[in-house]
Amino acid sequence: MTNSTPLAVLEHVFGYHQFRGNQAAVIDTLVAGDDALVLMPTGGGKSLCYQIPSLVREGTGVIISPLIALMQDQVSALEELGVRAGYLNSTLSSQQVWQTELALQRGELDLLYVAPERLLQERTLDLLHNSRIALFAIDEAHCVAQWGHDFRADYLRLDILHRVFPQVPRIALTATADVRTRAEIIERLGLAEARQFISGFDRPNIQYRIQQKNNPRQQLLRFLREEQKDNAGIVYCLSRNKVEQTAAWLCGEGIEALPYHAGLPAETRAANQHRFLREEGLVMVATIAFGMGIDKPDVRFVAHLDLPKSIEAYYQETGRAGRDGQAATALLLYGLEDVVKLRQMMGNSEGNEQFKRHEQQRLQAMLGLCEITTCRRQTLLRYFGDNLDEPCGNCDCCLTPPETWDATEAVRMALSCVYRTNQRFGANHVIDVLRGSENERLMSLGHNHVSTYGIGKHLSADEWRSVFRQLVARGYLDVDPDGYGSLQLNDGCRAMLRGEETIRMRRESRTTGQQQSRRPA
Ligand code: ADP
Ligand code: ZN
Repeated sequence: MTNSTPLAVLEHVFGYHQFRGNQAAVIDTLVAGDDALVLMPTGGGKSLCYQIPSLVREGTGVIISPLIALMQDQVSALEELGVRAGYLNSTLSSQQVWQTELALQRGELDLLYVAPERLLQERTLDLLHNSRIALFAIDEAHCVAQWGHDFRADYLRLDILHRVFPQVPRIALTATADVRTRAEIIERLGLAEARQFISGFDRPNIQYRIQQKNNPRQQLLRFLREEQKDNAGIVYCLSRNKVEQTAAWLCGEGIEALPYHAGLPAETRAANQHRFLREEGLVMVATIAFGMGIDKPDVRFVAHLDLPKSIEAYYQETGRAGRDGQAATALLLYGLEDVVKLRQMMGNSEGNEQFKRHEQQRLQAMLGLCEITTCRRQTLLRYFGDNLDEPCGNCDCCLTPPETWDATEAVRMALSCVYRTNQRFGANHVIDVLRGSENERLMSLGHNHVSTYGIGKHLSADEWRSVFRQLVARGYLDVDPDGYGSLQLNDGCRAMLRGEETIRMRRESRTTGQQQSRRPA
């Protein structure tokens, strides 16, 4: 596979047509035999940075990675593309190890993944001496940072590569952004001479806006008509059904919209995607199936009609806006019903308990981003380990700081009402109890006799909904994932119930006011 250019390999092996961001420059550096340090957000495309030079250069690319569990998958994916790949780690039988070693020595591997502890064994180092090595890639390079939570002692010894194989180019890669980690990588791995390729996480031209859903269709329509006339953009929905209904409804409103989801025939999907890329000013209404590998620079907005399931997903999906660097908007409309729906989907998904718990935590972080009253971008970037010293001036919280109110009393009422109704009901029912509704179901349950019945008439149902949403977002209440969204008290609310804590909440504005002013120059 040698003697090809990087671009030819990109096209013929990986099926992509252009490099992203720093990829081309990184690859050229390695192909020329020099070292590189690459810092790129997750999903930025780090793998190609070492895979392509491994294919272009003579010999085998050796990738050092601590993620043993992923190696098998990575190798299978490469093999499917016709790349000769293998791995060495503790999960292999001695027979398999022996076969892989033999293949390496015979020059039959383009790529070899190795766990760090395996690489450092005498036997492996000898083997590498007797083989032709195209490059060393040190993935997850932040593992050398001794104070970081991913620290691996074996990583500290990887400087041996520099000393023992001085002629082999090295590339260190990480998605961890802070300066201290970067300095430590350079020092510990002997990369002072390496070219540095840093891509930050911030997308300053994207204006982040997150609003509660009250009449989502009207909110979207106003946004499209008043701010995004004739602009191309993506509207994300959770379900296929909703994608189709929303697209049809937008067309009825005179806005050219196309549906896209995995349930549509392949030809329809291809045709709609093609039109979206080629024509101007189309709106693509889609599930998250749309977007992978789509590179349209002038997407002016991404609107979410449902809550994404994690901050990573939100960042990735909104990141499809404004790739050309021009102003773009990310609008997210969300409500408590989204949380209930997502929790149910997660509850029903396959995967072990730990995986599910992890998913719930990621959803919780996403909700937290929705409910904060300070700069969205700062919180978003902090989540990725990137720091923004000042509030950004280009998100809804910066542009129109939300009003807050002392919700201590209301929260106590809300929590105790959840308790009095045995933690078996959803927000709407609990609100009915608080507001003293006389609906039949409530009466037949005898909830007109609980002590919290009718104590919350001073707030409207909408205001109560906002209280409950914020309580869920802040982790005071849990939404039961299996049933009908019943609310349950969480350990976090004990202090609140004992009267030891006060709480301020975001006051929801009644309008969905526009925010067009830009970051001050
Ligand atoms: P990272 O390791 O930085 O998290 P990956 O290397 O896994 O990111 O790449 C993320 C996704 O982007 C993958 O699906 C990959 O195939 C895709 N990708 C990477 N580079 C390109 C490119 N130049 N064109 C199109 N898709 C790309
Ligand atoms: Zn901001």
